[in-house]
Amino acid sequence: MAVLERMTSQEAINLENQYGAHNYHPLPVVLSRGEGVYVWDVEGKKYYDFLSAYSAVNQGHCHPKIVDAMVNQAKTLTLTSRAFYNDMLGKYEKFATEFFGFDKLLPMNTGAEAVETALKLCRKWAYEVKGIKENEAQIIVCENNFHGRTTTIISFSNDPVARKNFGPFTNGFIKIEYDNLVALEEALQSNDNVAGFLVEPIQGEAGVYVPSEDYLASAKALCEKHGVLFIADEVQTGIARTGRLLATCGNCDCENKNCSGTPDVKPDILILGKALSGGAYPVSAVLADNAIMDVIKPGNHGSTFGGNPIAASVAIAALEVVRDEKLAENADRLGKIFRVELSEFAKTNDLVTLVRGRGLLNAIVINDIEDSSTAWDICIKLRDNGLLAKPTHGNIIRFAPPLVMNEEQIRDCISIIKKTIEEFEK
Ligand SMILES: *Cc1c(COP(=O)(O)O)cnc(C)c1O
Repeated sequence: MAVLERMTSQEAINLENQYGAHNYHPLPVVLSRGEGVYVWDVEGKKYYDFLSAYSAVNQGHCHPKIVDAMVNQAKTLTLTSRAFYNDMLGKYEKFATEFFGFDKLLPMNTGAEAVETALKLCRKWAYEVKGIKENEAQIIVCENNFHGRTTTIISFSNDPVARKNFGPFTNGFIKIEYDNLVALEEALQSNDNVAGFLVEPIQGEAGVYVPSEDYLASAKALCEKHGVLFIADEVQTGIARTGRLLATCGNCDCENKNCSGTPDVKPDILILGKALSGGAYPVSAVLADNAIMDVIKPGNHGSTFGGNPIAASVAIAALEVVRDEKLAENADRLGKIFRVELSEFAKTNDLVTLVRGRGLLNAIVINDIEDSSTAWDICIKLRDNGLLAKPTHGNIIRFAPPLVMNEEQIRDCISIIKKTIEEFEK
């Protein structure tokens, strides 16, 4: 069969099964087109996308402004490597640092690379500024974290599937319970070699765990007290997803000052990825002020593609869309409607025990044992009813549509979800 011939869903699935490594377990649906909040499968059936590529497509599928920026730059200059300057990178770095309120940005491609970069930056700072003895630095991380898939990152994961038979692992990490300030304080007090605390403002992959209101601000204060860097992994929570520009917010240029959520915290190191490009291209970044970022010197770190002209122009466009279309405010408003409606529904329903989240990063917890197939089976039924979502950690279903959704659409989606779960109960 010629590659360009139209194929059926089953043919496409068979090709991936035969020729691709089996490192994912996709929901059986084969997509071939996307626009805004919608995607279409190869047979032409239309769906609401309620995953947004794990919050990469916050700006909606194929946003014309982002696609234009990408196509125009692709016709002009795609890659120079950092062996030479290019005329887009500096422009992007100025734009993004002003947008998020930091002195400097280090450009990478994927989220995992940006997390790796942040860890290296934190360690180097610890030896050269804080004065920790070489090779002794420790970084505190949280149980049930998700920060990516590299060897170092899985070294401090506690997901057995992600770790088994991938050792030996990287040392230098202390794991504590998430949303536990006492555990953080104890870890900080009992070890003089702590360099940083790496945390997700909301644990997305773990099942959209929202910490208590004061957790991030108090954790930041504890870090400051002990001279330890507060490192926020906002790869999933950032770029308007949780109803504010960043879940930590900081002193960034967020126009949505009335948004709900935790008190403002400015991380010492901010990690972004996913929606930094609106899902058009792999773009990630680490942001920090000069006192930290200036420890990085030529040759210390890099990436052939990091900071390339396409990435730079795509990221500027993607952030302009977030600002111009007020996506943080929209996510905040629609998220409240979503949680109110589904919480009401949960009271009348035995299958849904809990609804939680912030902005348009939400999850429902299904009333069943953790390794049951109920959540998966519900996602299959949601697919049949025109809405795509995916279970995360067994009995939890994450709901994260593109932020360009409108109220009529979210109400339509709420009724699809209710109807599907009601059907499922029978
Ligand atoms: C997705 C994600 C990553 C990893 O990003 P990749 O682009 O898949 O490498 C890191 N941290 C968080 C919180 C994420 O959600």
